[in-house]
Amino acid sequence: MAKYQLVLHGGRVVDPLNKIDGVYDVGVVDGKVAEVTPALSGAEAKEIIDLHGYTLMPGVIDTHTHIRGPAQRMIAKVGVCTALDMGAGEQVVQEFPERGVGLNIVYLKTVGPWAGEIPSETEVAKHIDQAMTGGAIGVKIVGGHNPSTPAATARIIEMANRTKAYVAFHVGTTETGSHLKGLLEAVELAGENSLHIAHVNSYLRGLIKDPLDEVREGLAAIEGKKNLVHESYLAIINGTGGRFGPDGLPTSHVTRLNLKMGGYSVDMKGMEQAIFDGWGMVQGLEGGETVMLTGQAGVDLWKARNTNVSMSFPVNQPQATFLTAVRKQKNGKFVVDAISTDGGSTPRNVAVEHGLALVRYKALTLNEFIWKLSTAGASMLDLKDKGHLGVGADADITVLDLERGKAAMTIVGGKVVMAHGVIYGKGGTIVTTPRGEAYVKAAAEANGFKYQVVHPEEMLIYTKRQGA
Ligand SMILES: [Zn+2]
Repeated sequence: MAKYQLVLHGGRVVDPLNKIDGVYDVGVVDGKVAEVTPALSGAEAKEIIDLHGYTLMPGVIDTHTHIRGPAQRMIAKVGVCTALDMGAGEQVVQEFPERGVGLNIVYLKTVGPWAGEIPSETEVAKHIDQAMTGGAIGVKIVGGHNPSTPAATARIIEMANRTKAYVAFHVGTTETGSHLKGLLEAVELAGENSLHIAHVNSYLRGLIKDPLDEVREGLAAIEGKKNLVHESYLAIINGTGGRFGPDGLPTSHVTRLNLKMGGYSVDMKGMEQAIFDGWGMVQGLEGGETVMLTGQAGVDLWKARNTNVSMSFPVNQPQATFLTAVRKQKNGKFVVDAISTDGGSTPRNVAVEHGLALVRYKALTLNEFIWKLSTAGASMLDLKDKGHLGVGADADITVLDLERGKAAMTIVGGKVVMAHGVIYGKGGTIVTTPRGEAYVKAAAEANGFKYQVVHPEEMLIYTKRQGA
């Protein structure tokens, strides 16, 4: 019998955690890295993949995605092995049998909004408990799009901390919004409590001050705070909704801001013109994946769906995108923990491509790129066998084509999920906590996918304080 189920032969292996950078063969047994040595005997392998000229990194862990519809295909194509969904809850599990392409998926569940009366502690605890028993690792506060009051928001953060549930926040309350003031407010609302601040770059759009001043102030507010974890993404387009309510306004407050930023009136007419002009991009489906539609095609789809479409606007400032990705503290650690995509079904899964552009530009070293796209995510999600390629690590590997600046292959648990743009994977693994295990296990057994249990109290959001 072959000793290795798979040998990845002749590629450059870069693993910052284990300080490895060189040409090695990687032997895989039972989905784990069994050997990383200069030359393995091919005779001992069931399958060999020749990776001369390619670079192998620990699999990309995307710490901010939206796993709906075609999202898993789309992120697998760009090298993502593991993704944290920001808010879909058990919908992820329900779609998994049909949509899974072999990736590891972790998810949060949206709570709120509570825009009026402050919910009681019991009420909030009940919602957090529902999220957790439904397999989520914690909750997402939608803030910006559909805000709660500051008091309600603080209560959600506090209650999540009490039971060590994960808690992420798209900043903004009824008093602020999805901008610098919302970010500063979020830091205050957290107080001493732990909090994941979602997509830091997206609040620094120059709505309050000059964008560069906003970046300085925003990063200074979070720098060195050990109760906060965060990510930022490298796309200029955002993600929001095109839906209008009976009051004739977009239901998302972010969308209202986006129309204003483009100089459009905040009403149906303004939206129609924005889409027609290409300022507002409507998500349609083509070839089983999401595409952006503008012009008449965009307007038609938006109307055909009674305005209920996902949309993007080109509102992120390059200064913020760039600096939130590369800025470091005096001690050499990054101010923002990780680079994410905030993609998935929104076609802006550019973390690898744009991240490698930063490497080419020498704004990040390759080691730093890998740290921010994989190693950081592993500690954020208590995935101790991921984020590195030491012996015993999960054989989750993103194969990079540095020449083209892209991911060439996505390998998860020693199985090829994607190679050169073609998807081969099926099923996958849902990552949950002890509180969600019963629910996820039942679904996994009924539908033939795998699951894994992690512990929120072991995640960076709760362990950062102990770090140096
Ligand atoms: Zn998001």
